[in-house]
Amino acid sequence: MITAKVHGNHGVYTVSIDARGATLESACSCYIGKEGFCHHCAALAFTYLDNPNSFQSIKKKKLSQVRTLQDLETYLKANTLETLLKELKAKGVTQKEFAESIGMNPRQLSSIKSSELRNRYYNELGATKLACIWMIEHIKIKK
Ligand SMILES: [Zn+2]
Repeated sequence: MITAKVHGNHGVYTVSIDARGATLESACSCYIGKEGFCHHCAALAFTYLDNPNSFQSIKKKKLSQVRTLQDLETYLKANTLETLLKELKAKGVTQKEFAESIGMNPRQLSSIKSSELRNRYYNELGATKLACIWMIEHIKIKK
């Protein structure tokens, strides 16, 4: 997974390319990059291929290793809301149940989740992830 800020003609965009799964996925916060594969994504790919050493490597920490605010920021960036919601589902809590239990409209939760996948971060993203992490750690329901 590589991410970068790309300076475009109309602003600075958050760009990511994820090659962890079977398929290559990319996302950009620009208006044409909703599904990725825009020229900013291409710029990131070429920059990485040209000089991978110019990128800073960030090791993923376990939740139990999070001690500082910097650790927390890195942890939240490394774990998407989508991934956290899947973990929660494996514990028996659906996305709808999670949303309702924290007083959030399930549709709002879906919007927050998909905004992150397009690198357009909603203000509630961090707090929603923290609520999700808390629930993964504390709630035990098996259906
Ligand atoms: Zn773009």
